[in-house]
Amino acid sequence: MPNRIPIAALVAGCLVSAWTPTSVDARNVPTQVATTRPALADSTVVVMLGVGMPRPDPDASGPAAAVVVGSRVFLFDAGPGVMRRMAAAHLPINGVTALFITHLHSDHTLGLPDLIFTSWVMGRKSALEAYGPHGLQAMTTHILEAWKVDEDVRINGLEHEPANGYAVNVHEIKPGVVYDSGGVRVTAIPVLHGSLKEAYAYRIDTPTRSVVISGDTRPSDALLAASRGVDVLVHEVYSAARLAPEKRPGGEEWPHYMHEFHTSDVELGKIAAQAKPKLLVLTHIIRMGSSDEDLIRGVRAGGFAGKVVVGRDLARY
Ligand SMILES: [Zn+2]
Ligand SMILES: [Zn+2]
Repeated sequence: MPNRIPIAALVAGCLVSAWTPTSVDARNVPTQVATTRPALADSTVVVMLGVGMPRPDPDASGPAAAVVVGSRVFLFDAGPGVMRRMAAAHLPINGVTALFITHLHSDHTLGLPDLIFTSWVMGRKSALEAYGPHGLQAMTTHILEAWKVDEDVRINGLEHEPANGYAVNVHEIKPGVVYDSGGVRVTAIPVLHGSLKEAYAYRIDTPTRSVVISGDTRPSDALLAASRGVDVLVHEVYSAARLAPEKRPGGEEWPHYMHEFHTSDVELGKIAAQAKPKLLVLTHIIRMGSSDEDLIRGVRAGGFAGKVVVGRDLARY
Protein backbone atom coordinates (compact mmCIF):
# COMPACT_ATOMS: atom_id res chain seq x y z
CA MET A 1 0.00 0.00 0.00
CA PRO A 2 1.24 3.53 -0.69
CA ASN A 3 2.24 5.59 2.27
CA ARG A 4 -0.66 8.01 2.39
CA ILE A 5 -0.13 10.74 4.94
CA PRO A 6 -3.48 12.18 6.09
CA ILE A 7 -4.19 15.70 4.85
CA ALA A 8 -4.35 17.05 8.40
CA ALA A 9 -0.94 15.65 9.20
CA LEU A 10 0.50 17.01 5.98
CA VAL A 11 -0.91 20.44 6.60
CA ALA A 12 0.32 20.45 10.16
CA GLY A 13 3.68 19.23 8.99
CA CYS A 14 4.42 21.31 5.94
CA LEU A 15 1.60 23.25 4.30
CA VAL A 16 1.20 26.23 4.01
CA SER A 17 1.33 29.30 6.15
CA ALA A 18 1.62 31.64 3.16
CA TRP A 19 -1.74 30.73 1.66
CA THR A 20 -4.66 33.09 2.12
CA PRO A 21 -6.66 31.89 5.13
CA THR A 22 -9.96 31.37 3.39
CA SER A 23 -11.39 28.03 2.45
CA VAL A 24 -13.21 29.16 -0.67
CA ASP A 25 -12.27 31.94 -3.05
CA ALA A 26 -14.51 34.22 -5.08
CA ARG A 27 -14.84 31.61 -7.79
CA ASN A 28 -16.07 29.09 -5.28
CA VAL A 29 -12.98 26.96 -5.55
CA PRO A 30 -11.00 25.85 -2.51
CA THR A 31 -7.59 27.49 -2.58
CA GLN A 32 -6.01 26.20 0.59
CA VAL A 33 -6.47 24.06 3.64
CA ALA A 34 -6.81 25.95 6.88
CA THR A 35 -4.61 24.99 9.76
CA THR A 36 -4.20 26.28 13.25
CA ARG A 37 -0.81 24.65 13.66
CA PRO A 38 2.36 26.28 12.36
CA ALA A 39 3.84 25.00 9.11
CA LEU A 40 7.42 23.82 9.14
CA ALA A 41 9.15 26.10 6.68
CA ASP A 42 11.56 23.54 5.31
CA SER A 43 9.60 20.29 5.49
CA THR A 44 9.56 18.41 2.20
CA VAL A 45 6.81 16.18 0.85
CA VAL A 46 6.49 14.51 -2.55
CA VAL A 47 2.90 14.58 -3.82
CA MET A 48 2.15 12.31 -6.77
CA LEU A 49 -0.30 14.08 -9.09
CA GLY A 50 -0.22 11.57 -11.92
CA VAL A 51 1.43 8.15 -12.14
CA GLY A 52 0.03 7.35 -15.57
CA MET A 53 1.40 7.33 -19.09
CA PRO A 54 -0.21 8.12 -22.46
CA ARG A 55 -3.12 5.67 -22.04
CA PRO A 56 -5.97 7.68 -20.46
CA ASP A 57 -6.60 5.85 -17.19
CA PRO A 58 -9.11 7.65 -14.92
CA ASP A 59 -7.20 6.42 -11.88
CA ALA A 60 -3.73 7.37 -13.10
CA SER A 61 -3.52 10.91 -14.41
CA GLY A 62 -0.80 12.13 -16.78
CA PRO A 63 2.74 12.39 -15.42
CA ALA A 64 3.12 15.10 -12.77
CA ALA A 65 4.57 15.29 -9.27
CA ALA A 66 4.92 18.13 -6.80
CA VAL A 67 7.72 18.56 -4.32
CA VAL A 68 6.31 20.78 -1.60
CA VAL A 69 8.86 22.58 0.57
CA GLY A 70 7.09 24.53 3.27
CA SER A 71 4.81 26.88 1.34
CA ARG A 72 6.65 26.46 -1.96
CA VAL A 73 5.38 24.11 -4.65
CA PHE A 74 7.77 22.78 -7.27
CA LEU A 75 5.94 20.96 -10.06
CA PHE A 76 7.60 18.34 -12.21
CA ASP A 77 5.88 17.74 -15.55
CA ALA A 78 2.38 18.78 -16.50
CA GLY A 79 0.55 15.75 -17.83
CA PRO A 80 -3.14 15.85 -18.71
CA GLY A 81 -5.33 16.32 -15.65
CA VAL A 82 -2.67 18.19 -13.69
CA MET A 83 -4.91 21.03 -12.46
CA ARG A 84 -7.68 18.67 -11.31
CA ARG A 85 -5.09 16.69 -9.38
CA MET A 86 -3.56 19.89 -7.92
CA ALA A 87 -7.00 20.83 -6.63
CA ALA A 88 -7.63 17.34 -5.28
CA ALA A 89 -4.28 17.46 -3.47
CA HIS A 90 -5.18 20.86 -1.94
CA LEU A 91 -2.20 22.46 -3.63
CA PRO A 92 -2.48 26.06 -4.91
CA ILE A 93 -4.52 26.37 -8.10
CA ASN A 94 -3.32 29.92 -8.73
CA GLY A 95 0.22 29.04 -9.68
CA VAL A 96 3.29 27.16 -8.54
CA THR A 97 6.69 28.38 -7.42
CA ALA A 98 8.32 26.83 -10.47
CA LEU A 99 7.60 24.22 -13.12
CA PHE A 100 10.18 21.77 -14.42
CA ILE A 101 9.49 19.80 -17.60
CA THR A 102 11.48 16.60 -18.09
CA HIS A 103 10.99 16.34 -21.86
CA LEU A 104 8.56 17.48 -24.52
CA HIS A 105 6.58 14.27 -25.10
CA SER A 106 2.88 15.07 -25.15
CA ASP A 107 1.99 12.91 -22.14
CA HIS A 108 4.25 15.15 -20.02
CA THR A 109 3.12 18.49 -21.47
CA LEU A 110 -0.57 18.23 -22.40
CA GLY A 111 -1.38 19.85 -19.05
CA LEU A 112 0.83 22.86 -19.79
CA PRO A 113 -1.97 24.98 -21.31
CA ASP A 114 -4.18 23.91 -18.40
CA LEU A 115 -1.53 25.04 -15.91
CA ILE A 116 -0.90 28.32 -17.75
CA PHE A 117 -4.52 29.38 -18.24
CA THR A 118 -6.34 27.79 -15.32
CA SER A 119 -3.88 29.24 -12.80
CA TRP A 120 -4.43 32.66 -14.42
CA VAL A 121 -8.20 32.39 -14.28
CA MET A 122 -7.87 31.25 -10.65
CA GLY A 123 -5.89 34.34 -9.72
CA ARG A 124 -2.29 34.13 -10.94
CA LYS A 125 -0.83 37.61 -11.46
CA SER A 126 2.85 36.94 -12.11
CA ALA A 127 4.75 34.95 -14.72
CA LEU A 128 4.95 31.18 -14.42
CA GLU A 129 8.62 30.26 -14.12
CA ALA A 130 9.05 27.22 -16.37
CA TYR A 131 12.25 25.23 -16.83
CA GLY A 132 12.81 22.55 -19.44
CA PRO A 133 14.52 21.37 -22.62
CA HIS A 134 15.11 23.43 -25.72
CA GLY A 135 11.83 23.68 -27.59
CA LEU A 136 9.86 24.59 -24.45
CA GLN A 137 9.91 28.26 -25.46
CA ALA A 138 8.48 27.50 -28.91
CA MET A 139 5.85 25.19 -27.41
CA THR A 140 4.84 27.88 -24.92
CA THR A 141 4.71 30.59 -27.58
CA HIS A 142 2.45 28.41 -29.72
CA ILE A 143 0.18 27.66 -26.75
CA LEU A 144 -0.19 31.36 -25.92
CA GLU A 145 -0.97 32.07 -29.58
CA ALA A 146 -3.45 29.19 -29.81
CA TRP A 147 -5.59 30.52 -26.96
CA LYS A 148 -5.61 34.15 -28.21
CA VAL A 149 -9.41 34.34 -28.34
CA ASP A 150 -9.63 33.28 -24.69
CA GLU A 151 -6.95 35.77 -23.59
CA ASP A 152 -8.63 38.71 -25.36
CA VAL A 153 -12.09 37.91 -24.04
CA ARG A 154 -10.98 37.41 -20.45
CA ILE A 155 -8.88 40.59 -20.37
CA ASN A 156 -11.20 42.91 -22.32
CA GLY A 157 -14.55 41.40 -21.37
CA LEU A 158 -16.45 41.45 -18.12
CA GLU A 159 -14.02 39.17 -16.28
CA HIS A 160 -11.27 41.86 -16.19
CA GLU A 161 -8.50 39.33 -15.71
CA PRO A 162 -5.00 40.81 -15.22
CA ALA A 163 -3.41 41.32 -18.64
CA ASN A 164 -0.13 39.55 -17.93
CA GLY A 165 -1.44 36.87 -15.62
CA TYR A 166 -0.99 34.12 -18.18
CA ALA A 167 2.65 35.04 -18.83
CA VAL A 168 5.29 32.33 -18.79
CA ASN A 169 8.99 32.95 -18.20
CA VAL A 170 10.68 30.04 -19.96
CA HIS A 171 14.18 28.90 -19.03
CA GLU A 172 15.62 26.47 -21.59
CA ILE A 173 18.16 24.54 -19.58
CA LYS A 174 21.31 22.50 -19.87
CA PRO A 175 22.61 19.83 -17.47
CA GLY A 176 23.58 21.05 -14.02
CA VAL A 177 22.01 23.23 -11.37
CA VAL A 178 19.05 25.02 -12.92
CA TYR A 179 17.42 26.47 -9.81
CA ASP A 180 18.92 27.49 -6.48
CA SER A 181 16.89 29.68 -4.18
CA GLY A 182 15.95 29.78 -0.52
CA GLY A 183 17.64 26.48 0.30
CA VAL A 184 16.12 24.54 -2.61
CA ARG A 185 18.44 23.39 -5.35
CA VAL A 186 17.23 21.65 -8.51
CA THR A 187 19.74 19.87 -10.73
CA ALA A 188 18.96 18.68 -14.26
CA ILE A 189 20.42 15.29 -15.12
CA PRO A 190 20.57 14.30 -18.81
CA VAL A 191 18.93 10.90 -19.36
CA LEU A 192 18.61 8.52 -22.29
CA HIS A 193 15.10 8.43 -23.71
CA GLY A 194 15.31 6.74 -27.08
CA SER A 195 15.58 9.12 -29.99
CA LEU A 196 14.70 12.22 -28.02
CA LYS A 197 17.58 14.67 -28.24
CA GLU A 198 16.98 16.15 -24.82
CA ALA A 199 15.40 14.57 -21.76
CA TYR A 200 16.11 15.25 -18.10
CA ALA A 201 15.67 13.77 -14.70
CA TYR A 202 15.70 16.22 -11.80
CA ARG A 203 17.31 16.00 -8.39
CA ILE A 204 15.81 18.25 -5.74
CA ASP A 205 17.82 19.03 -2.61
CA THR A 206 16.00 20.85 0.17
CA PRO A 207 17.07 21.64 3.73
CA THR A 208 15.50 18.40 4.91
CA ARG A 209 15.38 15.86 2.06
CA SER A 210 16.72 14.81 -1.33
CA VAL A 211 14.42 13.64 -4.12
CA VAL A 212 15.10 12.39 -7.64
CA ILE A 213 12.41 12.32 -10.32
CA SER A 214 13.46 10.23 -13.29
CA GLY A 215 11.20 11.53 -16.03
CA ASP A 216 11.20 9.05 -18.92
CA THR A 217 14.46 7.18 -19.34
CA ARG A 218 16.10 3.89 -20.08
CA PRO A 219 18.77 2.94 -17.54
CA SER A 220 21.17 5.91 -17.47
CA ASP A 221 24.49 6.07 -15.63
CA ALA A 222 24.13 9.78 -14.86
CA LEU A 223 20.77 9.15 -13.26
CA LEU A 224 22.16 6.29 -11.17
CA ALA A 225 25.00 8.52 -9.97
CA ALA A 226 22.60 11.33 -9.06
CA SER A 227 20.28 8.93 -7.21
CA ARG A 228 22.79 7.46 -4.77
CA GLY A 229 21.50 7.60 -1.22
CA VAL A 230 18.54 9.92 -1.91
CA ASP A 231 15.58 9.96 0.42
CA VAL A 232 13.05 9.40 -2.38
CA LEU A 233 13.62 8.08 -5.89
CA VAL A 234 10.54 8.50 -8.09
CA HIS A 235 11.21 6.35 -11.15
CA GLU A 236 9.36 5.28 -14.25
CA VAL A 237 8.78 1.57 -14.84
CA TYR A 238 7.33 -1.07 -17.12
CA SER A 239 6.76 -4.77 -16.56
CA ALA A 240 9.59 -6.84 -18.04
CA ALA A 241 7.55 -10.04 -17.75
CA ARG A 242 4.71 -8.62 -19.88
CA LEU A 243 6.84 -7.15 -22.65
CA ALA A 244 6.00 -8.76 -25.99
CA PRO A 245 5.46 -7.75 -29.62
CA GLU A 246 2.06 -6.14 -30.20
CA LYS A 247 -0.47 -7.29 -32.78
CA ARG A 248 -0.52 -4.15 -34.94
CA PRO A 249 1.48 -2.85 -37.88
CA GLY A 250 4.94 -2.10 -36.48
CA GLY A 251 4.04 -3.85 -33.24
CA GLU A 252 6.97 -6.23 -33.58
CA GLU A 253 9.19 -3.22 -32.70
CA TRP A 254 7.43 -2.66 -29.36
CA PRO A 255 10.01 -4.51 -27.18
CA HIS A 256 12.83 -2.70 -29.01
CA TYR A 257 11.09 0.64 -28.45
CA MET A 258 10.64 -0.09 -24.76
CA HIS A 259 14.30 -1.07 -24.31
CA GLU A 260 15.41 2.18 -25.95
CA PHE A 261 13.00 4.52 -24.20
CA HIS A 262 12.06 3.06 -20.81
CA THR A 263 13.19 1.09 -17.74
CA SER A 264 11.79 -2.27 -16.74
CA ASP A 265 10.97 -3.30 -13.18
CA VAL A 266 13.93 -5.69 -13.17
CA GLU A 267 16.30 -3.03 -14.53
CA LEU A 268 14.98 -0.60 -11.94
CA GLY A 269 15.63 -3.15 -9.21
CA LYS A 270 19.27 -3.32 -10.33
CA ILE A 271 19.55 0.47 -10.39
CA ALA A 272 17.95 0.85 -6.97
CA ALA A 273 20.16 -1.90 -5.51
CA GLN A 274 23.16 0.28 -6.41
CA ALA A 275 21.64 3.69 -5.68
CA LYS A 276 20.10 2.57 -2.35
CA PRO A 277 17.34 5.20 -2.05
CA LYS A 278 15.55 5.22 1.30
CA LEU A 279 12.27 4.93 -0.64
CA LEU A 280 11.61 3.93 -4.25
CA VAL A 281 8.31 5.11 -5.77
CA LEU A 282 7.18 3.61 -9.07
CA THR A 283 5.52 5.98 -11.52
CA HIS A 284 4.70 6.32 -15.25
CA ILE A 285 3.62 2.73 -14.80
CA ILE A 286 3.33 0.79 -18.05
CA ARG A 287 1.59 -2.24 -16.62
CA MET A 288 0.63 -4.20 -19.73
CA GLY A 289 -1.64 -6.20 -17.43
CA SER A 290 0.71 -6.62 -14.50
CA SER A 291 -0.42 -6.16 -10.90
CA ASP A 292 1.30 -4.16 -8.16
CA GLU A 293 2.66 -7.44 -6.80
CA ASP A 294 4.08 -8.36 -10.22
CA LEU A 295 5.91 -5.02 -10.45
CA ILE A 296 7.32 -5.32 -6.93
CA ARG A 297 8.39 -8.88 -7.72
CA GLY A 298 10.24 -7.56 -10.78
CA VAL A 299 12.03 -4.90 -8.69
CA ARG A 300 13.02 -7.55 -6.14
CA ALA A 301 14.25 -9.83 -8.94
CA GLY A 302 16.53 -6.98 -9.99
CA GLY A 303 18.12 -7.08 -6.54
CA PHE A 304 16.57 -4.18 -4.59
CA ALA A 305 15.69 -5.20 -1.05
CA GLY A 306 14.78 -1.73 0.26
CA LYS A 307 11.45 0.05 0.65
CA VAL A 308 9.46 0.26 -2.58
CA VAL A 309 5.89 1.38 -3.29
CA VAL A 310 3.78 1.44 -6.42
CA GLY A 311 2.86 5.10 -6.85
CA ARG A 312 -0.77 6.26 -6.69
CA ASP A 313 -2.28 9.57 -7.73
CA LEU A 314 -2.53 11.88 -4.69
CA ALA A 315 -0.30 9.72 -2.52
CA ARG A 316 2.27 11.62 -0.46
CA TYR A 317 5.73 10.41 0.42
ZN1 LIG B 1 6.00 9.53 -20.85
ZN1 LIG C 1 8.62 10.23 -22.99
